[in-house]
Amino acid sequence: MAATAEDIRTEVEVWLRDRWDPSLELRAWRQRLLDDRWLVPSWPEEWYGRGLPAWADAVLHEQLAAVGAPGAPLGVGMSLAAPTMLAHASDGVKRRFLPPTLIGAETWTQLFSEPGAGSDLAGLATSAARDGDEWVVSGQKVWNTSAHHADHGLLLARTDWDVPKHAGITCFVLSMHQRGVEVRPLRQMNGHASFNEVFLTDARIPVDHVIGDVGDGWRVARTTLAHERGFATMRRPRHDPAVGRATREAAAEAAEHLKTYEWYPQRAGRPDLVVEAARRAGKVDDPVARQKIAAVLTLQRVHEWTARRAAAARATGRPPGPEGSLGKLAASVVARAAAEVHTALAGPFGTIVDGDDELQATVAEVVVSTPAQSIAGGTDEIQRNIIGERVLGLPTEPQSDRDMPFREVPR
Ligand SMILES: Cc1cc2nc3c(=O)[nH]c(=O)nc-3n(C[C@H](O)[C@H](O)[C@H](O)COP(=O)(O)OP(=O)(O)OC[C@H]3O[C@@H](n4cnc5c(N)ncnc54)[C@H](O)[C@@H]3O)c2cc1C
Repeated sequence: MAATAEDIRTEVEVWLRDRWDPSLELRAWRQRLLDDRWLVPSWPEEWYGRGLPAWADAVLHEQLAAVGAPGAPLGVGMSLAAPTMLAHASDGVKRRFLPPTLIGAETWTQLFSEPGAGSDLAGLATSAARDGDEWVVSGQKVWNTSAHHADHGLLLARTDWDVPKHAGITCFVLSMHQRGVEVRPLRQMNGHASFNEVFLTDARIPVDHVIGDVGDGWRVARTTLAHERGFATMRRPRHDPAVGRATREAAAEAAEHLKTYEWYPQRAGRPDLVVEAARRAGKVDDPVARQKIAAVLTLQRVHEWTARRAAAARATGRPPGPEGSLGKLAASVVARAAAEVHTALAGPFGTIVDGDDELQATVAEVVVSTPAQSIAGGTDEIQRNIIGERVLGLPTEPQSDRDMPFREVPR
């Protein structure tokens, strides 16, 4: 008989009683979880897991949280690179890169977008050419979150210029620690610098550090993008540094990682603050403000329920699908609506950061951060295209450059 959530809960509880040791180094603790196949129990048995349904990961996290033990690390490594490698990489690449990624010893950045290839990602022009036992890579990437402290880049580059654009792309693991890789931070209009430009000049990649087959990078990228658009909300783990070395290191690791994302709640519009903002502005009795507040909170609640429905479907083991696009679009709608309400309530003060007024400072950050919600991970228009084509079955968007050799595509 298949194991139930209660069975798994009990098994993890017993295991933790025996094996949880807060005095361990964080990585040694995660290695213990990995060795005993409790780091990602939903993964296949031959790849560090137990072949359990996806909900087993949530049960594990609950049990870890109950005793205050850290689990897998946050970040692009766990959320994008690891599932992409699991789905497409050779056994050699999986053996080399999965364990250090899973225990947080090696970190990642996503090297997909380019100045001339964002929505039209398949139009990318960073080139990778074979030179003996290596690939030599040159080009420019942009918007690369956390590239300034990543060990590896999940890189898309063009390996064949004489086939149509989707067919000539390959996915690589690029070491960020080499002479041909230059990372330059980008300062955003909200004052943070979470992204970078990455300039590649004859950067080197060992010939077998390819994910999927050479020329099959578009299929690999679609797996990554599906995970990126999924409904996953960012975990914000709470580790009590006083418990022991493992939790102290986990708290420091999470704090460092989350620095990049500290403005992300504001990017989502902070609908949770609109009632407080209305009170502060003396507008809770204003009929127009009340209508606007009710509308945004309704939208947000509906989005949350849809997200939960999708998460429940994912927990049964369904891979992320087009519903990710629906969720992503809904998140943009909520963020924009919330920013409009905040702006209407605060008036010109919504643009001012004044002394210790935390609410006003947060609203000011909302105003200059919400536009990113409609762009990151694929713009609203692109989500609409995906919904139109894959959910509603509408004809695909006409693309004149789709079938011609990429070399001949005007750029
Ligand atoms: C917060 C944030 C984080 C990001 N993180 C990363 C990262 O870590 N790694 C990474 O590689 N990239 C990252 N990106 C880049 C992101 O994926 C791109 O910005 C996005 O795909 C849009 O590409 P673009 O900026 O080139 O805009 P463009 O593609 O030039 O689009 C410009 C406008 O044209 C519209 N448009 C384009 N094509 C169509 C079409 N076919 N139909 C209708 N409208 C269209 C777009 O919707 C948009 O409004 C990030 C971006 C942001 C804002």
